[in-house]
Amino acid sequence: MNIKNNLEKILSQIDDACIKSGRDRNEVKLVAVSKFHPLNEINEAINAGQFLFGENRVQEAKEKFSDLINLQNSDYAEKSQNVELHIIGSLQRNKVKDAVKIASCIESADRIELLDEIEKQCAKLDKKISILFELHTGEESKSGFESPEKIKEALILFSENRYPHIIPRGFMTMAPFTEDKDLIRKSFKSLRECRDRFLKEFPQFDLSELSMGMSNDFEIAIEEGSTMVRVGTSIFGPRNY
Ligand SMILES: *Cc1c(COP(=O)(O)O)cnc(C)c1O
Repeated sequence: MNIKNNLEKILSQIDDACIKSGRDRNEVKLVAVSKFHPLNEINEAINAGQFLFGENRVQEAKEKFSDLINLQNSDYAEKSQNVELHIIGSLQRNKVKDAVKIASCIESADRIELLDEIEKQCAKLDKKISILFELHTGEESKSGFESPEKIKEALILFSENRYPHIIPRGFMTMAPFTEDKDLIRKSFKSLRECRDRFLKEFPQFDLSELSMGMSNDFEIAIEEGSTMVRVGTSIFGPRNY
């Protein structure tokens, strides 16, 4: 795997998708999903200029990223200061304590109980963290809030100041695993509609981020308004589970 080449290729595909859909290239960030890939490959990506990463599992993320995020005097200290990690996989409550130490954003916030725990742990650390509301839009595992109405319940709690250490930034979804492009597009569209609705209903928050699109479908996602594509396989190669 030539990670540098792969990154260049993805970035130019993102450029093309933006041009095709008339979108500003600066609106779309690439999250390099490094789950199941070792630290040396992550370092390769960093050396190629990629600083934003996504991981599913907190234990694994902690092992690989603690040093990248905290170390001041490593060889790549200059660059590592910029490394940022998003947690993108479903998060158990007892993992939140570690998650908030290493991540700048929890993209997979999917229930109020989890928000309560994130608030509690961030308050202890005196740290603010960003979250995205994950909406279930058709993917098989049923992860995510089951409907926009459920997300609204959470947003109401935000508007009552229950989460002073959490900054809600937008929404995340996974499209169904299918070849059917219409179904995939429908899933992304419903996330965008959810965002547009809550931008109006909760103007006090900046809920503009839409994290959607993976290796197989990020171009459709960009056409449908994605601001963050989460790409793993096309950068790092297949995963050995
Ligand atoms: C693994 C994963 C990705 C990346 O998937 P690829 O198909 O390897 O690009 C994106 N988002 C989430 C939530 C994931 O779990």
